[in-house]
Amino acid sequence: MHLSARAEELLLEGGTVRGLVYRDSTSARVSVAADLVVGADGRFSRIRRLAGLIPSRAPQPVEYL
Ligand SMILES: Cc1cc2nc3c(=O)[nH]c(=O)nc-3n(C[C@H](O)[C@H](O)[C@H](O)COP(=O)(O)OP(=O)(O)OC[C@H]3O[C@@H](n4cnc5c(N)ncnc54)[C@H](O)[C@@H]3O)c2cc1C
Repeated sequence: MHLSARAEELLLEGGTVRGLVYRDSTSARVSVAADLVVGADGRFSRIRRLAGLIPSRAPQPVEYL
């Protein structure tokens, strides 16, 4: 696990995502190879934007606790 890591770029090979580049807590850029990259960075997801994905406009369910 990499804490305080801010994803900045996707690593692409022939149009396939092969990992990502993040900036760590010292501002160093670190590359990580990965078979699978999951964007779980919220509604303004950088990963989604970098992957060229377009979010659905369908209403989302909200559970009020
Ligand atoms: C004021 C408010 C009240 C809400 N109340 C409710 C409620 O009562 N019930 C309900 O069901 N939903 C509620 N929601 C909606 C709910 O918060 C979101 O639907 C839910 O948190 C989304 O979860 P997530 O994991 O997709 O994103 P988030 O909870 O936003 O988590 C995304 C994480 O990614 C991290 N991140 C962002 N960019 C990067 C990056 N480049 N690299 C690495 N990490 C990154 C962020 O720091 C964050 O920790 C509320 C939202 C708001 C704003």
